[in-house]
Amino acid sequence: MRQVIIIGSGPAGFTAAIYAARANLNPVLVASSVEVGGELMKTTDVENFPGFPEAIQGPDLMAKMQEQAERFGTEVLYDDVTELDLDGEVKKVTLGSGTVLEAASVIYATGSAYRTLGIPGEDRLSGHGVSWCATCDGFFFRERTIAVVGGGDSAMEEATFLTKFASKVYVIHRKDTLRASKIMQDRAFANDKIEFIWNSAVEEILGDDATTGVRLRNTVDGSVTDLAVDGLFIAIGNDPRTHLVHGKLDLTAEGTIWVDGRSSRTSVPGVFAAGDVIDPTYRQAVTAAGSGTVAALDVEHFLAALADGAPAAAAVA
Ligand code: NDP
Repeated sequence: MRQVIIIGSGPAGFTAAIYAARANLNPVLVASSVEVGGELMKTTDVENFPGFPEAIQGPDLMAKMQEQAERFGTEVLYDDVTELDLDGEVKKVTLGSGTVLEAASVIYATGSAYRTLGIPGEDRLSGHGVSWCATCDGFFFRERTIAVVGGGDSAMEEATFLTKFASKVYVIHRKDTLRASKIMQDRAFANDKIEFIWNSAVEEILGDDATTGVRLRNTVDGSVTDLAVDGLFIAIGNDPRTHLVHGKLDLTAEGTIWVDGRSSRTSVPGVFAAGDVIDPTYRQAVTAAGSGTVAALDVEHFLAALADGAPAAAAVA
């Protein structure tokens, strides 16, 4: 049986792994079978992670975190978790390959998943002009007209990035003020290629097998207009990825995993959570990394208390 299994390969998971590995806990990290590195894999310049004054590309930062975790002995598995049995003192983690891992503790750091609009055309045209990742798909929109929906930092970042390719970028927002930070707003406002369409909700994405436009409803007067675009980038936030722990761990009203105060302890002894999956507010790479540190230290204390003979339910000091 292992000491700790870490689920998730974003900044929280890899930072937890670095700390756990350096504490000789021989962690295994389940990283995903599709893409290792989490949300930062979809980002270009990361300008706010301390230590990189010239910025670092998101995928490069994640590669460095993985390298650092592996340097101290973390075993990275390129697989997905399909089932969790967290009740007993031995935690069981079933992988897509059928392997069942067992450990005394689990750190759950699965991050968050992008939100969808839930409107006609969104599923059908996904990959045919509708995208959630400017860094992945921006290249396909050279000299085209595109729209970004959302009013947060993600939308500003995507819109600004997309002006490298597109001839025109509309930002469609359902209010008349942005939620984005001032620096990101200013950057978008200063960009000649970006035009804001305020008080507008996207009701439908138009096109048969390629995106040709969006239908907008004015949120103030209810009027409906069509806007011709070749692509739509949806940047309306993320939701915590908790589907594997529904009914197993307590959640908060915001849908994040409940943790005890400033710790990473969940409602089940021996199960710890870190990163975006517990954080409805800050959701930064650096706060996720800090949260991963907390989880690894909590696990260390938990395992030490277990080794001293404390029952699992009480081994939380
Ligand atoms: P946010 O939750 O901050 O913003 C989501 C935006 O989408 C809001 O403007 C919201 O509108 C809008 N929205 C939500 N649902 C819908 C919907 N169904 N239809 C239309 N619009 C909708 O998410 P972000 O992903 O932008 O940011 C998340 C976190 O990540 C933040 O803390 C942010 O600071 C951080 N971040 C930082 C970056 C950086 O510093 N480089 C880059 C990207 C993100 P409304 O305002 O009306 O609620």
